[in-house]
Amino acid sequence: PKYQSVALVAGVTGIVGNSLAEILPLPDTPGGPWKVYGVARRARPEWNADHPIEYIQCDLSDPHQTHSELSQLTDVTHIFYVTWASKPTEAENCEANGNMFRNLLDAVIPNAPNLQHICLQTGRKHYIGPFEMWGKFEPPEPPFHEDLPRVNVPNFYYTLEDILFEEVKKKEGLTWSVHRPSVIFGFSPYSLMNIVGSLCVYAAICKHVGKKLRFSGSRGAWNGYWDASDADLIAEHEIWAVVDPYAKNEAFNCSNGDVYKWKHLWRVLAEQFDMEFEDFDDDDEGESRSSMEEMMKDKGPVWDEIVRENGLVPTKLEEIGNWWFVDVIFGVESSVDSMNKSKDHGFVGFRNSRTSFVTWIDKMKSYRLVP
Ligand code: NAD
Repeated sequence: PKYQSVALVAGVTGIVGNSLAEILPLPDTPGGPWKVYGVARRARPEWNADHPIEYIQCDLSDPHQTHSELSQLTDVTHIFYVTWASKPTEAENCEANGNMFRNLLDAVIPNAPNLQHICLQTGRKHYIGPFEMWGKFEPPEPPFHEDLPRVNVPNFYYTLEDILFEEVKKKEGLTWSVHRPSVIFGFSPYSLMNIVGSLCVYAAICKHVGKKLRFSGSRGAWNGYWDASDADLIAEHEIWAVVDPYAKNEAFNCSNGDVYKWKHLWRVLAEQFDMEFEDFDDDDEGESRSSMEEMMKDKGPVWDEIVRENGLVPTKLEEIGNWWFVDVIFGVESSVDSMNKSKDHGFVGFRNSRTSFVTWIDKMKSYRLVP
């Protein structure tokens, strides 16, 4: 056959989906040559259009649509599940995300006889609980490792894992892997949580109105050790797991393998936008936090003006800037995992987080999403 493997990427315009769409079709990608189907809810955006994949517009929350679109894909060998829906409460997250995942698996598993592996992406919240529970229970101490027991709070990641474990039993030989990234550095103007993109937009707005780049987070977040997960590295990790026999039926953390402090990346961000930044005021005994969500509330017209003046790809501020997410991240003092299990199983990929940060900022600029 022309192709050795056939991927179905659910969430192909997302922050990791976009990387998978770029990397899977490359001639030297393990497991290849790959044919790639990519599913997303909306029409295909311009910035995703060059990837040589078959784009399928389909709403996974709709069981009928999902069945009619995806049951036809009888040649799929590997599923990459890199999507999610955000709901107001975790109970609703469990329900909505469980339904989406089940709809996809119900459409594909019985109809794709050569299906071999399902790769599920969840994240750090596996260990620290859903956002709504933060501060309400004692999370385990970092560095987080894969053997930690589940925390006894509702978590849609657990729902997804349980569905996965139940579904793989339906087909002999079908294997799985779970991938748990930290905060993701990547590219997608459609992502619900894109820290690099949001910070680029924030910097562009500060510069436009003549303000220094001011850190909105807590002292702990400014000074603490953090890790990140480069979106291309996650894609490599997921491709490794679907191909390598030593990675089957396991959950893995997936981070860059180094640590950074936001105070250092803040300087980098300012450099990239050729502007001045404010040091965190160390004399200030207080927390000195401000809410991005609050600050950005009335900046829609400023953003429209920046887009117009610089001839950028048209975007809406509330879509390209995930302010609630920046507020959440900048409220956390420190967060790191261990990559030992991945290394022990043979994955030795890594990224320099500072270089990764700059790479994705460059990509935002080269695709004319920020000035
Ligand atoms: P994302 O928000 O970047 O992209 C989601 C993709 O799914 C998009 O292509 C979107 O069009 C598509 N999509 C959304 N709803 C859909 C629907 N109903 N039908 C079809 N397609 C739909 O995704 P992400 O951030 O990569 O999230 C995947 C997982 O990774 C989630 O569990 C998330 O919590 C986790 N995670 C994300 C981050 C981060 O920084 N973004 C960090 C750690 C973990």
